[in-house]
Amino acid sequence: MHTLFLLILAWFAASAGLLAVLHWRTLLASWREPVLACPVLIVESDDWGPGPSEDAAALQELARVLESLRDEGGRCAVMTLGVVSSVPDGQAILAGGCSTYLRRTLADSAFMAIREAMQAGAARGVFAPQWHGLEHFWPDSLLACLGERADPAQRQALRDWLQADCPRSEDLPSALQSRWVDAGRLPSTPLTPSAVALAMREEAAVLRYVFGAVPEVAVPNTFVWGDAIERAWAACGVSCVVTPGSRYEERDATGGLASPTRRIRNGDRGRGDVCYVVRDVYFEPLRGHRAEHVWQALEAKTAQGRATLLETHRSNFIGPSEMRDAAIGELERALRGALTDHHDLRFMSTAELAQILRDAESPFRERDLRRRVEAWLRRVAAEAGPARILKITGLGSVIRTVGNFLGGVNFRRSRYQADC
Ligand SMILES: [Zn+2]
Repeated sequence: MHTLFLLILAWFAASAGLLAVLHWRTLLASWREPVLACPVLIVESDDWGPGPSEDAAALQELARVLESLRDEGGRCAVMTLGVVSSVPDGQAILAGGCSTYLRRTLADSAFMAIREAMQAGAARGVFAPQWHGLEHFWPDSLLACLGERADPAQRQALRDWLQADCPRSEDLPSALQSRWVDAGRLPSTPLTPSAVALAMREEAAVLRYVFGAVPEVAVPNTFVWGDAIERAWAACGVSCVVTPGSRYEERDATGGLASPTRRIRNGDRGRGDVCYVVRDVYFEPLRGHRAEHVWQALEAKTAQGRATLLETHRSNFIGPSEMRDAAIGELERALRGALTDHHDLRFMSTAELAQILRDAESPFRERDLRRRVEAWLRRVAAEAGPARILKITGLGSVIRTVGNFLGGVNFRRSRYQADC
């Protein structure tokens, strides 16, 4: 019996050694990633910008619901608005033979109702504007796809798209929606730094006009971006970049995303010292995502000491009124259920989360060693890289059991938790 016990012990010790040798970078990075001391839930929504006046009504209804939800500290639920600051002036582009790109921005009087709905929500703390492109595409790429050498079927589809009063960027081909590369021809090619810098300054001017200041947070369209983009953002006042946990830098020959070029964790730094946050929980009611999905994700992220950032899009909230109401209703159910499950849940903006990730002294950061070890074990168990070795050796079960034990006996609240 004693020998059997020693053999089992030796097996797991050898397995742990192998894990450390093969995946030491992952283990170290998981440990270094900040651990939050309480559950944090942020609704991240993208693609808001010029559109029909019904969009303003959707924003007002969202603001009403978000304001009715309060965390323990009295803070209302926050939805970030990834703002696309303009739409193409389709009639003018077509009249000019598609040789010159022309736009209408959020500053246009036609979009006053949307602008005011965004501003009112931001003033009440329920909306947090974020950079999401002056357009959701690179204008020269669009013109290239409208040119004589482009695919005729795609060219006609884009001409039809431009006929709309407010063309929706959601309706563009996926590859074209990557603003920060030239996808006029595939595979995509990088943009020149000077063109990027000019585009950022133009976008900053619109954002400053609409919101009085430029947001601190940027969301790369389709998560395709590179170092030059980060430097340009940082030069314009951006200090945080939202990521899916990895970075994509180009579109391949088929228009799909090329393989990611790097893995990203919460609190990692990019060019210009921008702080990355990871957003990888999807909540698209139009695609059938339900509140239960949010609650499960919140449970797992909280156990890992991470914030839960829900990714959603304008498209869920701008359809026929029945669809819009159903989507907003599901969002409300998700947030109310989260508050019921986690009495210490905190709502905040992504900019505030980035500030916590930067500040080791923040009261929102966990200091209790046992809780940090538990979060680390749960992170390791959820990693894709070591998944095979954890499964084959049985080490994954051991890690989960120890994590559960630490979580179960960790009845003492962090001394900082009451403040967070
Ligand atoms: Zn988008």
